[in-house]
Amino acid sequence: MEATTFVLFGATGDLAKRKIYPALYNLFIDQKLPASFSVIGLGRRELSNEVFQKNVEQSLRSFSRRAVDDPGSVKAFLEAFRYSVLDVGHKEDYQKLLQLVEQREAELNIPQNRLFYLSVGPEFFDIIATSIKESGLGSTKGWKRLIIEKPFGHDLQSARELNQKLSISFAEHEIFRIDHYLGKPMVQKLEVLQQANPVLQALWTNHYIANVQITAIETVGVEERAGYYDHVGAIRDMFQNHMLQLLMMLSIHLPKGSTSEEVRLKKKRIMEALEPLQKEDVAMNVVRGQYTAGTIQGKAVVGYKDEPGIGQDSMNDTFIAARLEIDDVFWREVPFYIRTGKRTQEKSTRIVIEFKEPLKQHSSTYEEKTNPNLLIFEINPNEGITLQLNTKDPQHEGEFKPILIDFHTSRKDVPEAYENLIYDALRGDPTFFAHWDEVELSWKWVQPILNAFEENLVPLHPYSAGSFGPDEADQLLARDGYHWCTNS
Ligand code: NAD
Repeated sequence: MEATTFVLFGATGDLAKRKIYPALYNLFIDQKLPASFSVIGLGRRELSNEVFQKNVEQSLRSFSRRAVDDPGSVKAFLEAFRYSVLDVGHKEDYQKLLQLVEQREAELNIPQNRLFYLSVGPEFFDIIATSIKESGLGSTKGWKRLIIEKPFGHDLQSARELNQKLSISFAEHEIFRIDHYLGKPMVQKLEVLQQANPVLQALWTNHYIANVQITAIETVGVEERAGYYDHVGAIRDMFQNHMLQLLMMLSIHLPKGSTSEEVRLKKKRIMEALEPLQKEDVAMNVVRGQYTAGTIQGKAVVGYKDEPGIGQDSMNDTFIAARLEIDDVFWREVPFYIRTGKRTQEKSTRIVIEFKEPLKQHSSTYEEKTNPNLLIFEINPNEGITLQLNTKDPQHEGEFKPILIDFHTSRKDVPEAYENLIYDALRGDPTFFAHWDEVELSWKWVQPILNAFEENLVPLHPYSAGSFGPDEADQLLARDGYHWCTNS
């Protein structure tokens, strides 16, 4: 891997502390960082290099997956870190930064490969990218890359505007848009599982699959993010990006050895084949909900409107369920159901594939007695794969019982999403980042829903905290003769 300077905007922020430093450290321990590696942290506060390094060390001790017990390794890791003050609007700060970057490149005798990571609010993405270009930081003799956090736009138009601005300073192949769901190991395995298992490959069509259910629900509420979340809701915070990315990753068909370009092209095709919703159809296919007071794991919690910072008149969605269809040869007539929400009974990100039950149609023996075959990909908090089959119940003559073939990995052995993504960005592999085409098509698909919400064409259904969302989300499937497959 080529020597790199990692320039981190937002180095004093929450994301850097909880995710980015621990990810870098774990990569370092696993020997997955370049041999010569320099990190320059940026923030508004004045900090000495020593204090910055201490803060980074503290974050490792609090959040690292790997043990932080070898003083030699910790010291060697922290030696790569320098700090510079930068306010995004101050041009002279970028000149100071350029000097520091060049000084470190000279000290370490490394090429001008620069990775700029924007771990700051989205309102700063544009000005930072522009200033990187104008200051000369972007005029490298090596490569330059931009890692950008979510959210990428607030709707279709703002996303297009942002992309247009970024593209003045960085080419598409230099922009790595993080969708951390794409960094989750099980999501990254979906393609390999298909490619390496002819049995799965053969089943991956509408001949055998009845429906696909994609769930990402959590027990937590809005927490300290009221100001942000109340303007965004589940539709923008989760659905437009993470949920549609999961749908793309599950539904693409790829031959073995496919390149990142092929992955992206196939994902784009899926988005283009997604049946568009007209504003008037949204109410039939999308359920929006907002949590009310309830009990989660024995603890009473307040409703969304009573959360600090949320008004009694808020119409924000804390839950979304939707029915989607992909109009291509593999998936035509297979409904995809997506749901995501806060303050639900359990925390779970999973994809369930429910297979058709042709025997039921042809034999009375199986009528009503078997359960559907299910293939379940657990993504979070546990990682695993489960296959549900039917077998004879030896205790009850003539009856069937479902058995589960189960594989789960221990969390400790599984790299964090940010480890995978930073590693890929360092190597210049864009496979698990969101290409602009995908982002644009996702916003395009979601835009009629945003419009319908705005015009109040879709009811906002209350649901009790601790439930699985509003009953209407169940009816979405019941209409087609299905139900959500849950853990509980
Ligand atoms: P944060 O508020 O904790 O940190 C923001 C950082 O930006 C700080 O280091 C601050 O010094 C810096 N900053 C603010 N104003 C600045 C200015 N004028 N000039 C220079 N620096 C300035 O935010 P965060 O939680 O670390 O999130 C950072 C980004 O990551 C955001 O885009 C957020 O949406 C995204 N994100 C965060 C999380 C998370 O779990 N925290 C998850 C996904 C995406």
